[in-house]
Amino acid sequence: MHDETRKELRAWLEFYQELGIEGFYRREPGTVGSSPSLEASRPTQPAAAPPSKHVPSPVQSREVTTVPVPRPIAPATPSPAIIRPPAPSFSLFEAAPARRSGPETLEQIRQDLGDCRRCKLAPTRKTIVYGEGNPHAELVFIGEGPGADEDEQGLPFVGRAGKLLNRMMQTVGLKREDVYICNIVKCRPPENRTPEKDEVDACSPFLYRQIEAIKPRLICCLGAPAVRTVLGIKEGITKIRGRFYDFGSTKALATVHPAYVLRNPREEKILREDFEKIRDFLRNL
Ligand code: URA
Repeated sequence: MHDETRKELRAWLEFYQELGIEGFYRREPGTVGSSPSLEASRPTQPAAAPPSKHVPSPVQSREVTTVPVPRPIAPATPSPAIIRPPAPSFSLFEAAPARRSGPETLEQIRQDLGDCRRCKLAPTRKTIVYGEGNPHAELVFIGEGPGADEDEQGLPFVGRAGKLLNRMMQTVGLKREDVYICNIVKCRPPENRTPEKDEVDACSPFLYRQIEAIKPRLICCLGAPAVRTVLGIKEGITKIRGRFYDFGSTKALATVHPAYVLRNPREEKILREDFEKIRDFLRNL
């Protein structure tokens, strides 16, 4: 979220707190009209918005589609060219940052996360897998959620899928220590199942704050759940992979999850192809 929007939202919350209103609830997307004050502070690329039925028709792989960063209030009539990410992922009320001036650091966000018990994944996890890598990375990878190895070690992508991710990075000359790696949920879902909506809603505000702290030039969404969460796109991953989207002022690329390639080794070439796109994108910055 942009600083201006954050300030406004904070002031707004304080205003309601002064009125004695402490509890906030989420409305279903599309039921809220636009707020003049928040609208006024909207950055050039509109910040977040609720889901829209307007998913653009397929575009060429290097064509850019705009995806606004999540924000709490629905804008006026959505443009068909804009893919709206899901509004509920903007659970700022659950993850409101401590009062700070200036941009947040990854350490501060980690502190806010604490020994998180915000969702039902907490009781079965061993470790919170916050994320790892260069806090100033130009590239952020976002996966689905920790698996058994990650839960054990507290680090993202250290199991088999992680080894493949490392290899793909090597193939295109990227070093793991230069990028940042995280997931849409920070706790392992039981039996490695796909994270559920309430879990993603509870966790994704921290992810967005991490992205905002890092300010990468490119986000790479690994697999459908990351694409759905970050870009709000529900279309099949094999259809929309390899395309670049706008996510606020950052670009985002959707690709298949390395675990999918482990299950379908013949698909490695598509992951490699997308990593080559990442390499070319970063070269041309
Ligand atoms: N799969 C993911 O999506 N994330 C990890 O951290 C590991 C495996």
